[in-house]
Amino acid sequence: MINRNRSFKEEREQAVERLVGMGYLRSREVIRAMKMVPREEFLPESLRKRAYVDTPLSIGYGQTISALHMVAMMADALNLETGQIILEVGCGSGYHAAVIAEVVAPKSGGRQGHVYSIEIVPGLVHFARENLRRAGYEEQVTAILGDGSLGYFDQAPYDRILVAAASPGIPSPLIEQLKGDGILVIPVGNLYLFQELLRVRKEGEKVIREGLGGVAFVPLRGKHGWKTTR
Ligand code: SAH
Repeated sequence: MINRNRSFKEEREQAVERLVGMGYLRSREVIRAMKMVPREEFLPESLRKRAYVDTPLSIGYGQTISALHMVAMMADALNLETGQIILEVGCGSGYHAAVIAEVVAPKSGGRQGHVYSIEIVPGLVHFARENLRRAGYEEQVTAILGDGSLGYFDQAPYDRILVAAASPGIPSPLIEQLKGDGILVIPVGNLYLFQELLRVRKEGEKVIREGLGGVAFVPLRGKHGWKTTR
């Protein structure tokens, strides 16, 4: 097992260096976090050996853990800092939440922020909690069962919000629950195809959107999501 863990560590470092080389990652803190968080702990046993292949992988219930470059791109676009309070919509495996937690609430100490991550599939909330516990992020990340298209009012407002599923539009509760100088990153577009990753900022009453490129995410469900059963 020790050898296996060592080779996972090497694979992880190489995968992150590749992402840096390809221009997906610039933030030093996100680079450090991605080199630390063991993606293999967030996968079903049979897929662990593929942990550092840069592709989405199945986590059951028709859902996927996002590809490494997508986790990198979104985390980079959020301008994360220690101490921030984050909302993630779509906890899935808990991996992305753990990477963000390692930036806003590093294990090494210092200012401790927190990640609230909301997930609509009960089995995945359980899966994420187990994964976060094994990887040592249970104190920095709270996985919550619920409809994240409504945000998570209890801990609002948030410094940063990220949505890991594609939405038909920007759900109004997410704008309302974002701090005045906050950033929201969300894929918006059609079902399965032609979605754009948006970075959204509030400036007073104005909402400013910036396109970050084309992406493909599973659909956002719930009140402000798609009416789909998948
Ligand atoms: N961030 C995850 C990726 C999960 S994929 C990871 O690192 O593994 C997107 C997730 O969004 C799926 O688990 C899906 O069940 C969830 N989801 C879809 N609609 C949702 C909603 N309205 N509220 C909360 N979660 C939702």
